[in-house]
Amino acid sequence: MTDFVSCEGPLPHIPDDLSIPQFILDSGHPARLMHNENQPWLIEDGTGKTMGLKEIRTKVDALANALSSTYNVGEDTVVCIFAPNHIDTPIVIWAVHRLGGIITAANPMYTPEELTHQVKLTQSHLLVTHSALLKPALATAGEAGIPPERVILLDVPSHPQHTALADLEKAGLKSKTRYTERRFKPGEAKTKLAFYSFSSGTTGKAKAVMIPHYSVIANVIQFATMYRGFDPNVPWEDKMFRSGDVTTCILPLFHIYGLVLNLHFMLFSGITLVVMPKFNFEELLKSIVRFRITHLILVPPMLLLLCKHPIVKKYDLQPVRVIMSGAAPLSTEIIEQLAAVFPHRRIGQGYGMTETSTAVSALPRTEKVGFSGSAGKLLPGTVVRVVKADGSLGKAGERGELVVSGPQVTLGYYKNEKATKETFLQIEGKCWVRTGDEVLIREDGHVFIVDRIKELIKVRGFQVAPAELEGHLLGHPDVADVCVVGVPDEYSGEVPLAYVVLQPQTAKRVKGDPNAAESVKAAIKKYVADAKANYKQLAGGVEFIDQIPKNPSGKLLRKDLRAKARAERAVQ
Ligand code: AMP
Repeated sequence: MTDFVSCEGPLPHIPDDLSIPQFILDSGHPARLMHNENQPWLIEDGTGKTMGLKEIRTKVDALANALSSTYNVGEDTVVCIFAPNHIDTPIVIWAVHRLGGIITAANPMYTPEELTHQVKLTQSHLLVTHSALLKPALATAGEAGIPPERVILLDVPSHPQHTALADLEKAGLKSKTRYTERRFKPGEAKTKLAFYSFSSGTTGKAKAVMIPHYSVIANVIQFATMYRGFDPNVPWEDKMFRSGDVTTCILPLFHIYGLVLNLHFMLFSGITLVVMPKFNFEELLKSIVRFRITHLILVPPMLLLLCKHPIVKKYDLQPVRVIMSGAAPLSTEIIEQLAAVFPHRRIGQGYGMTETSTAVSALPRTEKVGFSGSAGKLLPGTVVRVVKADGSLGKAGERGELVVSGPQVTLGYYKNEKATKETFLQIEGKCWVRTGDEVLIREDGHVFIVDRIKELIKVRGFQVAPAELEGHLLGHPDVADVCVVGVPDEYSGEVPLAYVVLQPQTAKRVKGDPNAAESVKAAIKKYVADAKANYKQLAGGVEFIDQIPKNPSGKLLRKDLRAKARAERAVQ
């Protein structure tokens, strides 16, 4: 058998005529768990402010009304959110969806240059931002031709120069409802776009992944079905998700993992979200105690702190029942240490990517702790293949590239047919996405991510595209050629290292002069630091090399340099 299918049971009906807000705010589903009466849906971490379904619906409708009448937001209008997590972020998302618009959410660490790429590529019409980010937001708006009046502030009650979201909501509430909610014909949710989320995929720079409403709804239902919180036959004590639970919402909502699993799946499962704007470890521990958080949905560096940081002992983390990791590999060592620090908890990792609307596999319901290195089992409705280096299909226990098919697979890259064709394959009437990850699937269905074949570097779960850094570095006057690879780092997972071929003059100058060499390295690092977000910086260093290894057709042999870097670092 060469198609691996999920052994987690059949998938219930996935509605293909609902938008995301209709699915989350307005409808029932057999896999759904409702919130308890009076249980908030959202809590703002700093202030303790709460929001329930009734208030959320009112705010969404008011905002949709105002966005439609004031800014003409409607069919396929793109709204960019450039802000840390905020209790009103979901309101913006659902209001835009109610109007038939598309959300593109950007990393709040982005520099204006990085944000401009996203805003221009998606032709964003509005920029919703945070007051602390107004400067880069306005710089981007200027570059991208968005007038300042279309820059809206998410976090302040009012502002002398800019429109505040709160003002828009007030205006939308006061005025007569003028907008008509976008409703889909049967099947339409499969192609109607909800998000442009950014990912570099297997190669090249960040691209806008076209994510339809249906893929998000499907991934939520796949996850809910895997864990059967709704199933009366599953004993209460075995349920991983229950109405009334409380989870962190610290994963950034611009990333697919935060957006789909942390936000939409948790709300679909009757869970309260404590919305946290940024990661501060001690504040997180305090919030766990204050809000009696039951679920920690985190990335590996946060989990590393949880099992190693001495202050953990000062807090009573008894309420925590489930610890979930994703977005990057979680080492066996961390899982084992977590299981020792947090005995009797459910601890596991999931695996997925932006191109699959998040999850492909996750810790199975029947297992308490994801054992050594497993990224779990396939979600219901997921079919995968393992393509070996020679192109043939692998069987259980054989290594190869994971190729995924299922309702969570997205529609390709916006305005990039070439990359879409290379990554999204149409085979036997189905769409399969190449993950660029090397895996091994065991006979019992456990999926192991054994290596990454694609260029991508993951720093604290964030994507760093080597091609983007290389393109930038080639603009430095001392750089003749360059190749960026990821090297292991205990906290960040990986960090970028640049192998640089110097321009002949510079090479001559630094030869035999360690001080000159160090100052050129520092200048190259600064060149990246000045233009790129913090996590993209060359924390792995700069190494000089005579030439970048390439194959006869000029293709960069990145794998060779990655192996060289890893071998050298292992020796040190
Ligand atoms: P993103 O689109 O940012 O979510 O990145 C997806 C990529 O992150 C995957 O293709 C993997 O390379 C990596 N990844 C995500 N989850 C895991 C995991 N549990 N183990 C190993 N790699 C992971």
